[in-house]
Amino acid sequence: MYINGAWIQSSRTFPVFNPANGEQIGAVVDGDRGDACTAIAAAAAALPAWSALTAYERSDKLYSAHRLMLERRPQLAQLMTREQGKPLKAALNEVKYAADFLLWFAEEAKRVYGRTIPSSRSDQRFLVHRQPVGVVAAITPWNYPVSMLTRKLAPALAAGCTVVLKPAEATPLCAVAVFEILHEVGIPAGVVNLVTAADPAPIGEEFCTNPAVRKLTFTGSTAVGKQLAQAAAPQLKRVSMELGGHAPFIVFDDADPLHAARGVALVKFLNTGQACISPNRIFVQRNILAPFLQTLQERIGKLQAGDGMDPATSIGPLVNQAAVDKVDRQVRNALDMGATLHAGGRRLLEGGLDRGFFYAPTLLSGVSPGMLIYREETFGPVAAVIAFDEEAEVLAMANDTSYGLAAYVYTGNLSRAMRSFESLQFGIIGINDINPTSAAAPFGGMKESGLGREGAREGIEEYLETKLGGFSI
Ligand code: ADP
Repeated sequence: MYINGAWIQSSRTFPVFNPANGEQIGAVVDGDRGDACTAIAAAAAALPAWSALTAYERSDKLYSAHRLMLERRPQLAQLMTREQGKPLKAALNEVKYAADFLLWFAEEAKRVYGRTIPSSRSDQRFLVHRQPVGVVAAITPWNYPVSMLTRKLAPALAAGCTVVLKPAEATPLCAVAVFEILHEVGIPAGVVNLVTAADPAPIGEEFCTNPAVRKLTFTGSTAVGKQLAQAAAPQLKRVSMELGGHAPFIVFDDADPLHAARGVALVKFLNTGQACISPNRIFVQRNILAPFLQTLQERIGKLQAGDGMDPATSIGPLVNQAAVDKVDRQVRNALDMGATLHAGGRRLLEGGLDRGFFYAPTLLSGVSPGMLIYREETFGPVAAVIAFDEEAEVLAMANDTSYGLAAYVYTGNLSRAMRSFESLQFGIIGINDINPTSAAAPFGGMKESGLGREGAREGIEEYLETKLGGFSI
């Protein structure tokens, strides 16, 4: 753990495992609620001096962190592959994406503008000023164990906030590596603090109830996000929530079905399907279903599951046994209810894969609204295809979910693209595009997928309060 500028050691630790082979790769300090409280006190003590620095001074630190993270890109990526399982190439991409947030918010730090407002009274002036919200508590997930940290830390620090962060228990080593960078670039003691813990609940309780915390930012499941938002409500703490998704991927018959199938193959199996923007329901117009399924099946056949350190690997393991069980339960349920299996549909055990949590890339068609997979987030390598006939019908089906994070539309018709963009109730829409994300673009969900946005201009707003001055002269 890293509290008040110092690395904390302890004999109380918990192990970290490689999900590709079950080997223990390290151990980290098992922090408790008292540690979270100490870290919050350090962040509160550091707040006045950090927020009093000029934006240029805070920005300098973020530029340095950006440079150092890029220098460490190979080492960070290797650690991520061993700890989280994604193929090394994907890990290298993630480190670059993580560093992008440091750079973007180094720039945005200097653009926190206020404004003046004309008054109807000649003796009055209105001045609108932006101030850091205060101490921020952050909770991050394991699926993107470096970029989900910088996506919160960079805007918070740019805004002048101080932070206590609790990473996911599956990936604390990546978090330690990020904090080593922040330490080395000279971010002052107490400004950033890291509390690792095997049991997240007591840390979450401290974050939600300690009056010094003014803002909670969370990325994870909708269930935990709701629980934390409720716990933070009595003190009306500011909350940002980046939660689950159930992305529709709509392929109209005026799109090239082969291009669309290749797009699905790329985005669906990215990070083994463990992404909140992963397509969960793939709607294909009935008259192009056959060529679409054929191409997708071919692509899936080429995916090579294995240890991410092996350059031949294109798809890594799931995070743990519970994830394998959840995916398998959804697949069994779909098959029991009449879906057709075109590929996969089972855990992979051959060639040493039984030591890890591998599930075969799976393709189902004939998926229908009564099935678990149609409603529940899968977070695994299953492409669930549903045929449709009409535009209005598919847009209604796509919106028929409590989630509202990402949606994808493939069409060659500009008017249809615009109609879809406007009527889909999702925060992020890819139109003939499978990667509508960037540090420069606002990421976040509608409905039960969350509150607030990360990245972009909006990302720093989450860490700012608005203060109005009415001056009588
Ligand atoms: P996932 O299902 O993707 O693991 P979770 O919501 O369980 O999603 O985990 C995301 C983050 O939330 C992790 O850092 C985890 O430790 C944390 N977390 C889980 N349960 C709680 C809780 N009760 N209080 C605080 N944090 C929690």
